[in-house]
Amino acid sequence: MDTVAARLAPFGTTIFTEMTRLAQRHRAVNLAQGFPDFDGPDFVKDAAIDAIRAGRSQYARMIGDPALNAALATRWQSLTGHAVDPDIQITVTSGCTEAIAATMLGVINPGDRVVMFEPFYDSYRATAAMAGAQPRFVTLRPPPNLRAGEVTDSPFWFDMGELERAMAGARAILVNTPHNPTGHVLSRDELERIAFLCAKHNVLAITDEVYEDLTYAHEHVRLATLPGMSERTITLSSLGKTFSLTGWKIGWAITTPELSRAVRAAHQFLTFATATPLQIGAIAAIERGTPYVTSLRAQFSEAREFLAATLASLGFGVVMPRGTYFIMADHSEVSRRMGVAGDVEFCRQLPERFGVAAIPPSVFFDNPEHGRSLVRFAFCKKRETLEEAARRLRAIGPAPRA
Ligand code: GLN
Repeated sequence: MDTVAARLAPFGTTIFTEMTRLAQRHRAVNLAQGFPDFDGPDFVKDAAIDAIRAGRSQYARMIGDPALNAALATRWQSLTGHAVDPDIQITVTSGCTEAIAATMLGVINPGDRVVMFEPFYDSYRATAAMAGAQPRFVTLRPPPNLRAGEVTDSPFWFDMGELERAMAGARAILVNTPHNPTGHVLSRDELERIAFLCAKHNVLAITDEVYEDLTYAHEHVRLATLPGMSERTITLSSLGKTFSLTGWKIGWAITTPELSRAVRAAHQFLTFATATPLQIGAIAAIERGTPYVTSLRAQFSEAREFLAATLASLGFGVVMPRGTYFIMADHSEVSRRMGVAGDVEFCRQLPERFGVAAIPPSVFFDNPEHGRSLVRFAFCKKRETLEEAARRLRAIGPAPRA
């Protein structure tokens, strides 16, 4: 019997669940699903524990605990210079994933076109389908100088003509920067181009900025801060990546009063409200988190260098990520030596043969061919975990000399 509704049937089980299961079965080092293998900061945990002990156990306000909305508004003003009304323009959600769903369901009508970059984070396409949207894809492409056994600092890129054709007639564009899975951080030029097309074609921008604090010597530009964009942008983000608390599922949407009403129209019936004590913990993180974030960024910056160099020494072609905690690499030369074809087969065999798990990016493309030669590794792990992964991967053998 087909139990899954037609609108969701095409999506199957998420690749993160599938690869984490495979990693567990083979006791592989899990560089697949992006979550830290270390705990978040004590001062944040203590604030949540204190809230539980103090009996903060009933529903939170639907739009967010007042003190969390206020803390987020203060943070937004200090980051962007724009004042927002905490109770009208900010909605706290159960992670950014819920914020994406609430936004899609709240602002998109069936049949509306929603533009997204591929590779896309897998929930975008599924929530677009739940909203009845027509997705339209613009491809992010690896840099032309990507070579086996080398690390390139050149970024992923997209064709402006392709973007322009996709934007005419669209209702919204979903922009993820810093970008999962490529690690690309959209440049100011790229975002200005997107902003120009949004204004020209009257398109809303939905931004997923959950990796906003994880950039490495590259500026994170918020689309909402570009001229004319605060009126048409819904900025989404969350606590999980910045504070190594991916299981807390605290996210938020910041936007105009009108668009806020649309997001809330869906949010109130999706989850109604988000876990009260975790929202109290989030306030501590937002208000007192800067030193933690600075040290986390330094840790990830070293992890990034280490994993990039390791992968290149084994024959992967590595695009140095400018943000996030992921590395995208070309595996063609390595999989040729392993005798496997394509990213899915490569990632199915890697845990069993070499004891390391990774993500096959073709599932994030409308046209899977575009991702076939690529693989994504996560580096949000302890140094010893990454060293163990490197030790295991060395069994692949060194890159052949050119
Ligand atoms: N964002 C995480 C990643 O990209 C996965 C989240 C999830 O498992 N749904 O790896």
